[in-house]
Amino acid sequence: ASAQIGVTGLAVMGRNLARNFARNGYTVAVHNRTYARTQELVDQFGEEGTFVPAASAEEFVAALERPRCLMVMVKAGAPTDAVIEEFAELAEPGDVIIDGGNAHFEDTRRREAALRERGIHFVGTGVSGGEEGALLGPSIMPGGSAESYASLGPMLERIAARAPDGSPCTTHVGPDGAGHFVKMVHNGIEYADMQLIAEAYDLLRRAAGFSPEEIARIFRSWNQGRLDSYLIEITAEVLTHKDADTGKPFVDIVADRAEQKGTGRWTVQTALGLGLPVPGIAEAVFARSLSGHTELRSAAASLPGPGDGEARSGAMSPEEAARFADQVEQSLYASKVISYAQGWDMIRAGSEEYDWDIDLSSVAAIWRAGCIIRAAFLDRIRSAFAGNPGLPTLLADPEFARELGEAQDGWRATVTAAVRHGVPAPGMSGALAYYDGLRADRLPAALTQGQRDYFGAHTYERTDREGTFHTLWAGDRNEVRPD
Ligand code: NDP
Repeated sequence: ASAQIGVTGLAVMGRNLARNFARNGYTVAVHNRTYARTQELVDQFGEEGTFVPAASAEEFVAALERPRCLMVMVKAGAPTDAVIEEFAELAEPGDVIIDGGNAHFEDTRRREAALRERGIHFVGTGVSGGEEGALLGPSIMPGGSAESYASLGPMLERIAARAPDGSPCTTHVGPDGAGHFVKMVHNGIEYADMQLIAEAYDLLRRAAGFSPEEIARIFRSWNQGRLDSYLIEITAEVLTHKDADTGKPFVDIVADRAEQKGTGRWTVQTALGLGLPVPGIAEAVFARSLSGHTELRSAAASLPGPGDGEARSGAMSPEEAARFADQVEQSLYASKVISYAQGWDMIRAGSEEYDWDIDLSSVAAIWRAGCIIRAAFLDRIRSAFAGNPGLPTLLADPEFARELGEAQDGWRATVTAAVRHGVPAPGMSGALAYYDGLRADRLPAALTQGQRDYFGAHTYERTDREGTFHTLWAGDRNEVRPD
């Protein structure tokens, strides 16, 4: 046995992670259900480092130094269960089986508990950065026991992306499902970020009349400021791209139905279970879903929009359009802060629910590079939680609070323009409603409580006295104390 790490499942992600380990000096055992893929990896990239190709599961396990670190990169769901079981049979107590696929954190909790009984460490880890990240340095979010991180951690730290300050974009997130939970929230935030960017584009195009080229230029200038991020950068690239066949902007020939693989939906389902408001992520999931419902869309296509006078695109003067672009930047930034705040609320709630003790600041730290939401902005979230680990919401951080206050006018103007022009902006307007909801002195939830008490005798509390109360709505309307 000579390999420090093994990777089984050599499709795009597994192959590139194996190469990344090898390029960093590790001897890597490689295995795949279909041997041809293993052979192909060694033929194409064998010179990058030391690979030990294994034709069978037994050979693969035998190639690994003890305690064995064995990474599974196969299709999520039933295949992952089957492959884990296959290797658990061959593993010994103390070995570490790592699942780097996109597993649901509940599955990871179940797998971890089952393997723990057999003395095997199971590490469910999030890996973000796609194909290129896997090769050049992803952001890695491992869960599992602290003991497993002692043997595995140093290797992950070698292959992970580096933040601008040089620190590796990986850390022991927490026990059992913590890593996959955090990866799920990462993807939820990614959905929200993408939706907000899409709304900004739509508004600049349809309300202000900018062309895709002009919008790309605007995005590039935003990328020099506080919105500096990978997603803004690639948005400008996509908007500049021209379709080779037609010469039209690429964005005009792509079918406008956004797909989803499910991690955004998981985030929202989990938030509902935790009783936590994450409308920014939910609106993004629903917006993708709406885009795909062609039958609903065609049935509604002839519904009237705002009057011509209001909706005429290009009706803004160049000065007005430039001012509007500034307002959209404020709205995008403020809404982004809101979505990230909701994401961190969720990590905190998950950590409390499952006793994970997740360090909120270190999650921001490991997302600064390698992953899809990587951005300069994340370093500010890191320092907000590092300075105050008990921060109840990101919105309470004095810096972010000040920025939201300053962005407010542009944010409201943008949402108003969206409504006036009939351009849907559920992310931005939902974010503003969340902001106004949280800061409200009184919410109409008081009326909701009145209604609930009226039809269901659900009782209510009062602002001025302790206790539970009920009004005899059908009788003399006297107030009673049911307890
Ligand atoms: P796929 O999800 O397409 O999975 C293909 C791999 O799974 C192949 O190696 C295949 O083997 C193997 N496999 C499928 N079914 C079985 C089975 N029953 N038994 C044994 N092996 C099986 O590969 P990706 O590289 O795209 O993704 C791997 C994992 O990483 C997935 O869980 C994915 O969700 C996750 N992920 C993917 C990202 C991406 O950008 N693609 C990003 C982050 C995570 P064979 O060659 O024999 O068919």
